[in-house]
Amino acid sequence: MHRDRICQYLSFYRDLGVKDIYRRKAPAVPKAAPAERADSVIDTAMVSLPPLAASPVETSLASLPPLAASPVETSLASLPPLAPAGDTLARIQTDLEDCRRCRLCEGRAKIVFGSGNAQARLVFVGEGPGADEDAQGLPFVGRAGQLLTQMIENTAAKEGIPIKRPDVYICNVVKCRPPENRTPLPDEMEICGEFLFRQLLAIRPAAICALGSTAAKALLATKDGVTRLRGRWHKWRDIPLLVTYHPSYLLRPYNQDAKREAWEDLKKVLHFVYD
Ligand code: URA
Repeated sequence: MHRDRICQYLSFYRDLGVKDIYRRKAPAVPKAAPAERADSVIDTAMVSLPPLAASPVETSLASLPPLAASPVETSLASLPPLAPAGDTLARIQTDLEDCRRCRLCEGRAKIVFGSGNAQARLVFVGEGPGADEDAQGLPFVGRAGQLLTQMIENTAAKEGIPIKRPDVYICNVVKCRPPENRTPLPDEMEICGEFLFRQLLAIRPAAICALGSTAAKALLATKDGVTRLRGRWHKWRDIPLLVTYHPSYLLRPYNQDAKREAWEDLKKVLHFVYD
């Protein structure tokens, strides 16, 4: 493959926030003890992208489809599965059906794809489903979800903004419940992040609100925590992004300051989007 084309591929993937290409060897994750499984999935499935300047890229990217001989914009169409032309939420959801791309499939009851308005001007991104979400297949329906709904609807009402929860779109970084509600692991975030990015590209909201540090990490590729990131605008690609506290954190009784700050963040993002 011509070197310029490879460079175009690499910049395209990097623009999407993808740092590794996953090559699935077997259709299903092998049944093994959890500790072994974690290692083997990473070792066999992940081929790290080599530096742009290196020449032996040919072999690892050889299976990618040919690029149209045009700039990156038009080449989007020829790069399935990351961002197929005319990508829609329905198509992304179909691509996720019965997903077994990572170990989280083992314990899930339902894939929690996302819910809300497919043309939403505002998208909230959480971390991953909990027990209630896993059972219902819907995001943010448990205690944290009820708080999020109240926060959105009460703040909007107080600020004279006529929106309700169904007017926004809500989804998570990972679509399957992590065992014991643990934080998603980097490879799980990377694999499922592909689908989150496609969701955001398909909706193209006016703003994104990242709920908590896992969402912030996935979208901003940062190690900074919420306290450092909140209160100012960031960008995911060209979309303005605000980071705020995860509602589960706000449910803890001693986080009064964080609650006040979260309401401020929400006011800021709602006015930005709907004024
Ligand atoms: N916490 C999340 O991050 N997402 C949900 O959907 C529910 C709780």
